Amino acid sequence: MQLELSEDDQEFRAQMREFFTTEVSEEIRRTVIEGRELTHDQIVEAQRTLNAAGLAVPHWPEEYGGRGWSELRRHLWHEEMQRAGVPTPLAFNASMIGPVIAQFGTEEQKQEYLPKTANLDIWWSQGFSEPDAGSDLASLRTTAVRDGDHWVVNGQKTWTTLGQYGDWIFTLVRTDPEVKKQAGISMLLIDMTSPGLEVRPIELIDGGHEVNEVWFTDVRVPAANLVGELNGGWTIAKFLLGNERVGVAPVGATKRILARAKDLAKDTSDGEGGTLLDDPLVRARIVELENELLALELTALRVVAHSSDGEPHPASSVLKLKGTELQQAVSELMVDLAGPASVASGAGDDSDLPDWARTVTPTYLNLRKASIYGGSNEIQRQIISRTILGL
Ligand SMILES: Cc1cc2nc3c(=O)[nH]c(=O)nc-3n(C[C@H](O)[C@H](O)[C@H](O)COP(=O)(O)OP(=O)(O)OC[C@H]3O[C@@H](n4cnc5c(N)ncnc54)[C@H](O)[C@@H]3O)c2cc1C
Repeated sequence: MQLELSEDDQEFRAQMREFFTTEVSEEIRRTVIEGRELTHDQIVEAQRTLNAAGLAVPHWPEEYGGRGWSELRRHLWHEEMQRAGVPTPLAFNASMIGPVIAQFGTEEQKQEYLPKTANLDIWWSQGFSEPDAGSDLASLRTTAVRDGDHWVVNGQKTWTTLGQYGDWIFTLVRTDPEVKKQAGISMLLIDMTSPGLEVRPIELIDGGHEVNEVWFTDVRVPAANLVGELNGGWTIAKFLLGNERVGVAPVGATKRILARAKDLAKDTSDGEGGTLLDDPLVRARIVELENELLALELTALRVVAHSSDGEPHPASSVLKLKGTELQQAVSELMVDLAGPASVASGAGDDSDLPDWARTVTPTYLNLRKASIYGGSNEIQRQIISRTILGL
């Protein structure tokens, strides 16, 4: 395998770097780089800037805005975006429902939803998980019963990320309770302003409001909002979850945060006339993380080089597993660099402590999620043992 980029690909990377660092709002990029929370409007603005330049959904089929790039170019696009602190296009839209509608939707659904999905005119939520149906997704209990030209939906979804901003939700519902559990599931697109649909916030340990419960009480959904075959939802779910795993190892973003940790260590006094970076243990920890990230980056390139026809390589599970472990390890390093200041996350803006020290603990706590969502890391280990190691 050749690890050096060709001249064309180097040129491509330079173009991406130039665009991301000059055309996307500096304030938005600073918000990402400094680890602060993006607002709804910032996320929408960033995606629309990308979409206007044809850079929001390059992996979609070309007739719907895709660019026909090689897997390697998509990878470089993604890495450079993260490196520049540009918010990646909303995963629910760009990586999940968009490709699903392009692959399984009716012509009407494609015309109606795809342009709005690429431009974030519709903000999609993902309504898959339920209490007792997370890893064991096929056990879901939310029902849809046909009534004339509509489906009537009842049940509850949980962990719906950013559901407070959602315009529409793509849901898995049980449409046949009599058959094997995987065989009785369908996918419905539901307008979140429908009567009977209620979004309830879940409060998290970092104090943020990122996830929600979504309740359905006799919600009427037009029959035309079924995606793909009736009772064919499991096939669609597997297609979608495969895509979800591929983008979930944030190598570029983790590299950027580690580089920042190094700078902060260099600028932070050790109280004895030197800086934290003079401490051999701190140096060793940084070097070890840098090496592991380099190894992950090379693995990501190898996975990309061996993916074909948009099918995720089974090794994408390795990326998800290792990528989230490193993301968490770097967030832990940041907490340790902040030392006692890391407990001051509740201090207001008038505090003498630097911003970064006040945000590291909420970020560390928030990132506990990374090893759970997108298929928990235990489940990834099972996939690795079965499909790669053949155990
Ligand atoms: C922050 C966050 C955001 C999320 N956002 C969304 C969203 O927007 N939409 C959505 O639909 N879902 C979302 N999810 C749900 C997510 O997909 C599930 O949490 C995940 O699939 C795990 O399911 P669970 O929470 O039911 O845990 P469980 O499946 O109950 O697992 C609990 C523990 O048991 C382990 N475990 C389970 N089964 C096995 C097994 N067979 N072998 C070994 N270990 C096992 C798991 O790895 C885990 O450690 C989100 C979750 C989080 C934490």
